[in-house]
Amino acid sequence: MGMALQREACLIDGEWVSGDDWIIVDNPATGAVLGRVPKLGREETERAIAAAERAQPAWSALLAADRARILRRFHDLMIERIDDLAALLTAEQGKPIVEAKGEIRYAAAFIEWYAEEAKRIYGEVVPPHAADKRIIVLKQPIGVVAAITPWNFSAAMITRKIGPALAAGCTAIVKPASQTPFTALAIAALAEEAGIPAGVLNVVTGGAADIGGALLDSPAVRKLSFTGSTEVGAVLYARSAPTIKKLSLELGGNAPFIVFSDADIDAAVEGAIASKFRNAGQTCVCANRLYAQADIYDAFVARLAEAAAALRVGDGRAADTQIGPLIDAAAVAKVEEHVADALDKGGAIVTGGRRGPFGDRYYVPTVIRDVTQDMLVTREETFGPVAPVIRFERDEDVVAMANATPFGLAAYFYARDIGRIWKVAEAIEAGIVGVNTGLISTEVAPFGGVKLSGLGREGSRHGIEEYLEIKYVCLGF
Ligand code: ADP
Repeated sequence: MGMALQREACLIDGEWVSGDDWIIVDNPATGAVLGRVPKLGREETERAIAAAERAQPAWSALLAADRARILRRFHDLMIERIDDLAALLTAEQGKPIVEAKGEIRYAAAFIEWYAEEAKRIYGEVVPPHAADKRIIVLKQPIGVVAAITPWNFSAAMITRKIGPALAAGCTAIVKPASQTPFTALAIAALAEEAGIPAGVLNVVTGGAADIGGALLDSPAVRKLSFTGSTEVGAVLYARSAPTIKKLSLELGGNAPFIVFSDADIDAAVEGAIASKFRNAGQTCVCANRLYAQADIYDAFVARLAEAAAALRVGDGRAADTQIGPLIDAAAVAKVEEHVADALDKGGAIVTGGRRGPFGDRYYVPTVIRDVTQDMLVTREETFGPVAPVIRFERDEDVVAMANATPFGLAAYFYARDIGRIWKVAEAIEAGIVGVNTGLISTEVAPFGGVKLSGLGREGSRHGIEEYLEIKYVCLGF
């Protein structure tokens, strides 16, 4: 029954484990039930941790080249099965099928990249402080890793944690979001097929508090990598204190997207559409608030509205859909609250501003003008297809407005003047800055935020360091 690669069981210690209680998973495009996954809890999570602990010494003792070969096979299987994985992803998450395929390629790329990096975990030999000593620095896997992941990139948020973790010689327990467990279980099935040994990768679905609690309380779990809201991230941070876990937190954003008067306006519109409306605005690096300089403000707003109005809204399974449904009714309610607040405070709708024609979970691409800093659309992450545009006069004003947020994940700006580009890139408080581009995600670059947007970096050669400990060996003669 079900779709290809759809598993209604969890992977623990190499066994597919069923449950007594279940979580029902639906398709956000239609509300139709897709299937169910086990609602596991503390006991099963503790079994997964014990399995990961048992599997870790042998996994890390493999030659790096042998771990790399297995990971490479895992990557290849993801690419071979891209159509099945993307269909599952669109069915449970809602994003257009073209974007789902893009995400699977992006997700697989983390496995490939870290398969290569596994062979390049170099230590150091340091010139010693005494004639009869030698100093060696070893890099060793941190041990058992917990990965807690969100629904908006249900494939890539998993592989960019388990790719470096497994490459480094760690073993892992993944808890996927309850809205999107099938992608995670399908990826686990491919990992098993690729030859990843029992216990090295475990996936547990169920109650967040039970599973999260078991992972956090366990002294065996040495590292937690979490992607999700700042609110939950702060709870996990505090709960990690008693066992002093190493943490990576990829949390909420509030990305500014600035268009200066010397920008190529058409390119800026194209970048804004790509950044703002990808995954119907449900990414942590989506442009959340747009700023346009006074002399180009009207032109930019008009062209942006025209491009937004042309986006095709519908079921993500249709080949020509560009904007799918939002994840659930609460997400649509939040968007409506933000838009109503903007209108109350003096904003004006240029296009959109209403639910879609296909049911309660859709919201039409929207552009709002005359937006100010005090509105919810500016202060909070809307996580929907709404582009609020704020007018600014001077460069220093827009930098101050862009930084007037506790978040600091991504920021974007369009300009041509090289002095202005350097100054603004340096002054913006964000972990990632896109200049003359709206798309910044790639496995080869370090992704992560500052301030309340998180800790640590994923991707690039820096990403694997999150899963390594440094051991200094002082060798006396
Ligand atoms: P989002 O708003 O993207 O759903 P959340 O932070 O609510 O972000 O959830 C991200 C992930 O964290 C999900 O897998 C969710 O189940 C999990 N989660 C939520 N609350 C907790 C918790 N108290 N302990 C552990 N995991 C949690």
